[in-house]
Amino acid sequence: MGTIHRIQDVVDWGLCVGCGACFYFCTQGAVRLTDIQSLGIRPRFKNDICLNCNECLAICPGYSVDALSGANGNKGSCDQDPLVGSSLEVWEGFARDEELRHQASSGGVVSALATYCLEKEGMSLVLHTGMHPAKPWANQTVVSRHRQDILSHCGSRYAPASPCDGLASIEQSEKPCVFIGKPCDAAAVSLLRRKRPALDEKLGLVLTFFCAGTPCTQGTLDLVKRLAIPLEEVRHIRYRGNGWPGAFTVRYGSDGREKTLTYEESWGVLERYRKSFRCHLCPDGLGELADISCGDAWHRYPGEKDRGRSLVIVRTRRGRETIRKAAKAGYLELASSSAAQVVAAQGLVKRRSEIFGRLLAMKALRVPIPRFTGFELDRSWRDTVLEVKLRSILGTVKRLLVRGLWHKNPIPDVSGDPRQRGPFPE
Ligand SMILES: Cc1cc2nc3c(=O)[nH]c(=O)nc-3n(C[C@H](O)[C@H](O)[C@H](O)COP(=O)(O)OP(=O)(O)OC[C@H]3O[C@@H](n4cnc5c(N)ncnc54)[C@H](O)[C@@H]3O)c2cc1C
Repeated sequence: MGTIHRIQDVVDWGLCVGCGACFYFCTQGAVRLTDIQSLGIRPRFKNDICLNCNECLAICPGYSVDALSGANGNKGSCDQDPLVGSSLEVWEGFARDEELRHQASSGGVVSALATYCLEKEGMSLVLHTGMHPAKPWANQTVVSRHRQDILSHCGSRYAPASPCDGLASIEQSEKPCVFIGKPCDAAAVSLLRRKRPALDEKLGLVLTFFCAGTPCTQGTLDLVKRLAIPLEEVRHIRYRGNGWPGAFTVRYGSDGREKTLTYEESWGVLERYRKSFRCHLCPDGLGELADISCGDAWHRYPGEKDRGRSLVIVRTRRGRETIRKAAKAGYLELASSSAAQVVAAQGLVKRRSEIFGRLLAMKALRVPIPRFTGFELDRSWRDTVLEVKLRSILGTVKRLLVRGLWHKNPIPDVSGDPRQRGPFPE
């Protein structure tokens, strides 16, 4: 049976989520990040330093995710749903700032909450993700201090992002801050804050969103190719927004022409062919380890086309207090919803009930598995029909064999595009 002794093993066995947490956590500067076009963002370690150091395994969400740890230990008494996880409240709503709602991915709730925290809670900054201006098909970690910055970085970017690589900006800030990332980024933050009290103190609010998985950079390049646009002419790429759900839009050439693919055309390709293996194992698609998690209210689509709506799961007491104050201050329009509505709206919830079988398949091929605690994977597996169980196991065996993941796959040191990191663009 393969085993994981060091963080390098997490990468070699295809379990890295590319969050950038190890880059932030390493005090010796021994970690650098590169974007591997066909995989995602991956860390490289200095062997002379990392060989005898195991510290970052403890903060690696590729290796372990504990649903019970909560965003900051202030979960309170929660409702439990085997597919949705723990929640204090579930809402459906949107940003009352029309421009924000229009440009955001779904209802703009994530950006509206972040704006509220800056404007009314006196928080210092928002650490999140935006387009890399020189390489529009890639992302970079960004810092926002005003509504206008948040507005310019809103909208989902279906390409690798490592927002945890910028956590030093939060740790070193004078006042509390907002962190926005995928569920795996929020899981990394929940592990990191236990090890770094200074970071814990400065995390004013952790926001995440529902996530079916991150496509690698090659996915975006495939779409650009499909639109027959030469890469060197690409000036700007957006995946969502400007209406709901919004089109994949590439601006190119010196005169700023645009070509688009519908959401279905673009996400269909990205989701199906270009997701990393680790994303297929993720039990946390609805983001249990943040204060608040948001996703598309797909049950309203296409009836409410163009005017996005979000489902909002409040996970912690801090999240509950913040969302109520933001609504009262006029930042959000909210109506009560439920875990059952989330299940009805989100195809991705089914994945959780298949993870147990996927892990069984890995064990059968002696591939090491990540540690998932508190997700009740065996319970949802028991409730799954035989046909789906067989498909989960056999599909994973096939994926492991076809992708060559039944053995370690060290990444050659020469490959990959170095990530730009710090000082983070403001
Ligand atoms: C890879 C991926 C897969 C997703 N899968 C689903 C799904 O299956 N179902 C679903 O309902 N929703 C999914 N979403 C989330 C959805 O697209 C919206 O982000 C969510 O509904 C919140 O909408 P909003 O309007 O409140 O967000 P906005 O107000 O538009 O804010 C989005 C925030 O996310 C940040 N961000 C953008 N891209 C990334 C990234 N790659 N990594 C980290 N942070 C990023 C931005 O910086 C911004 O702060 C996915 C998002 C991503 C990035």
